[in-house]
Amino acid sequence: MKRYLILTATLLMLAHPSFAANQFVRCVQEQLVAMGQDPGPIDGSLGKRTRAALAKAINGHPDLETLPRMSNTYAVTWCRKLGQHSSDLLKFYPSETKAVINADEPNLEKNEALMQSAFLGVELEKVRDWYYRAHNVRLASRVDLAASSSGKRVAARVRKMQAQGGHAKVPTKNVLARCKQSEIAAYADQNFIVVCFQNEKTFDFAWTEKIKVRLGYTLAHEYFHSIQFEYAAAKQLIVYRKGQKPPRSKVRPSWMVEGSADYMANLYITDTYKRFITPDRIFEYGNKHDQTLNKIARTDSLRDPTDYEVSFLAVHLLGERYGVDALLKYWENIGLGMTHKASFEDAFNMTLDAYEKKFEILRKDKDAAFAFAAGFG
Ligand SMILES: [Zn+2]
Repeated sequence: MKRYLILTATLLMLAHPSFAANQFVRCVQEQLVAMGQDPGPIDGSLGKRTRAALAKAINGHPDLETLPRMSNTYAVTWCRKLGQHSSDLLKFYPSETKAVINADEPNLEKNEALMQSAFLGVELEKVRDWYYRAHNVRLASRVDLAASSSGKRVAARVRKMQAQGGHAKVPTKNVLARCKQSEIAAYADQNFIVVCFQNEKTFDFAWTEKIKVRLGYTLAHEYFHSIQFEYAAAKQLIVYRKGQKPPRSKVRPSWMVEGSADYMANLYITDTYKRFITPDRIFEYGNKHDQTLNKIARTDSLRDPTDYEVSFLAVHLLGERYGVDALLKYWENIGLGMTHKASFEDAFNMTLDAYEKKFEILRKDKDAAFAFAAGFG
């Protein structure tokens, strides 16, 4: 009996994420070796030697000395910031390995199936490149993609990616539900994007031509969630006891999460396809509904499509006024240890509460809203 208990405890320890190798700790260890330090074995596990080597390496570099204390949570920030500090260290980013595109349809002709994976891979790459070229975003983390026109198949793919480790557990029934909602449904996890097409499709050239703007919008939206997860240092699994309420995500409030993903997606299709949702449309949709930002913020994810429309308008006005850099700063500040409220004030020069109140006035008055977006008022 005793032996059985010990065995179980050992297995539990191995399954516990904080005991597992952390890919960003490994990245930092490799970067330290390249900097001439000795972090101990390159094993993705954070110990005394890695900490000591890091302390030596950053000594005299003010941009690094002010980063949050190295931990499994902040390893992603360290890995990215060391790469920004010295371009020799970029090659250790996990994002330098090829993204997994898990999208082959078994029931298709071979060349069609290949075309689908290749097409999705190219579209994801375009999004990633755009974030870098247009907004200087270069993630340390790799973003994989699972897609299918069958809900069951995409759920199986998600399970497989989860089993490969490092991925958060996603109840696959949520994935299945999303597949039925619209022509393209998508969802982003800490490490991957899931895309569902509503019906079985013929993956031919005509289809890719028809779908590419919507797909681009969708991928740019979901990729921005990956940016939020990384910038806010929220890549690690949140661990909590069974029966306990899960702690709130650092990636919040929910209207900022979804509104900024839509705002960036709209910029992406503007630049890439010269197609976009006009400010008038964004305003019309956003002021139709009466949910306040504060009410939306109380949930960790948006349930209603109208919540997205209100959120999009709220961030559209902020983005136009303060620019994409301010939006990015909001997420990045959180990954540097700031609370989301302090970060909001730092990025947008007003408190979160003040904007949530101001937005209620702006959304009822189009001239005032557009004037605010243009930098007045
Ligand atoms: Zn979203």
